[in-house]
Amino acid sequence: MKLFSRTLTFSTPFWMITASILGSVLSPIHTARAELPALPSRLIIGVDGVAYRTMQELQQEGFYKTFFPVSRTVSTFPSLSSIAWADILHTRAPLGYDRFHFHACQHGDMKHPTEFSGSILGSGDHEEAHDLWDYHIPSLLTFGTNVAPGKTIRLEMSKITEGFFSTQGKVTYYGYIVSTDNLQHNGGDVRPVLRWISGEVEKIAETYHQMTGQDLEIVIVSDHGNSLTARAKKVPLRQTLRAHGYHLTQKAKNSHDVAVGADGILSVFPVYVDASVQAEVANVLSEMAGVELVTERDAQNPNRIWIRRKSGAIGVIEKRVDEKGELFLRYSSISGDPLSYLPLVERLNLAGKTMSDGFVKNEDWKQASFDHEFPVALERIVKAHDSVAGTPAPIIVSLLDGHVIEFGAFMNVVQKLKHMGQTHGSLNSNSSNGILMSNRIPTVDTTTDRVTDQVSVSDFKH
Ligand SMILES: [Zn+2]
Repeated sequence: MKLFSRTLTFSTPFWMITASILGSVLSPIHTARAELPALPSRLIIGVDGVAYRTMQELQQEGFYKTFFPVSRTVSTFPSLSSIAWADILHTRAPLGYDRFHFHACQHGDMKHPTEFSGSILGSGDHEEAHDLWDYHIPSLLTFGTNVAPGKTIRLEMSKITEGFFSTQGKVTYYGYIVSTDNLQHNGGDVRPVLRWISGEVEKIAETYHQMTGQDLEIVIVSDHGNSLTARAKKVPLRQTLRAHGYHLTQKAKNSHDVAVGADGILSVFPVYVDASVQAEVANVLSEMAGVELVTERDAQNPNRIWIRRKSGAIGVIEKRVDEKGELFLRYSSISGDPLSYLPLVERLNLAGKTMSDGFVKNEDWKQASFDHEFPVALERIVKAHDSVAGTPAPIIVSLLDGHVIEFGAFMNVVQKLKHMGQTHGSLNSNSSNGILMSNRIPTVDTTTDRVTDQVSVSDFKH
């Protein structure tokens, strides 16, 4: 917030004038350069929800031509901003997958064992990762991200430019644009404004070169992708649960209650339910219209996760950590191949990567599955039920593109009016694949937790 108040005191023409004066003063007199306070040598821009395939298309059109080819940043599962940015920036895992979490009530004793009970509550954790950026939109203006997202993106980019040219004595300037995601949630096409940003970053690089004689390093990263489907159907969650004797609620009081809650219109939702009915509820939801697959942490063995897909397809992921802390995973089919991972099992086997008991190093799974329809699924599913959020759900339902669930009365009205469909959250490649690109180094496909292997964020405002 401190930096933002400083950037407010500079108008756009001011930095441009400053830049051109400095440029003309600097170019003939090289000795003066060292005496001037240094600008950052690196600019990192976070663009929320920009999909890999969108950026690939723009580079094919000739935009972002000073950048190396875009690579994938595969999001967390669910592919949602709060947990994905926390994963990228290595901040504490939020309580829930987005701004809501399940708070379990634990009353009762041995004589009167507690019935399953708890509530969906707001978390207020969303801002922790956000506050690390040198620029992110102040809370007062976040309303604009939904009302006029296109204009707000331009404002955010301009503020990043101003902030960058008025920062000294810092290696990297970090700017965050949230409205790229909101624009898509509101049914807009993000490509025109991304083409405009391509021109803006080129201008920044040119001005920087004139001022310093150096080349500015620019990195652009996003946290997840987008389904890019214009209209979507709402899944019949309440009716499906009711037909099987369960009650959809945000306040669970017994083992017939199924607590579900999250933020907005999404293609994923976590389910909190009593352990005794968990497998049955997961099974019921896997057969619901619009569901792509359901993941369920085994009620007895947390190292085992069931994957269910329509028509009774069931697979299981098992995890094991060796004495050096290395993660090994095994995927096996009980019936069918819900993740379509059996061809990968075969390929890894042929490549000699499989141990005698069928386990494979996580790193090998990862490299084999970046371009799969469910990229890096095993590790992401395991983390989804374990460490990616403070209160992980026993069940997560991932929807097919073109299907959504909406939360809150306001969203209910919006969805009825607009049938909005551009969203994210699911395990599939459209929702999962964000971007990583640099004008300095060729990047490689990675996962949110490993972005910093390629892009150091050591001078982040920790
Ligand atoms: Zn979003």
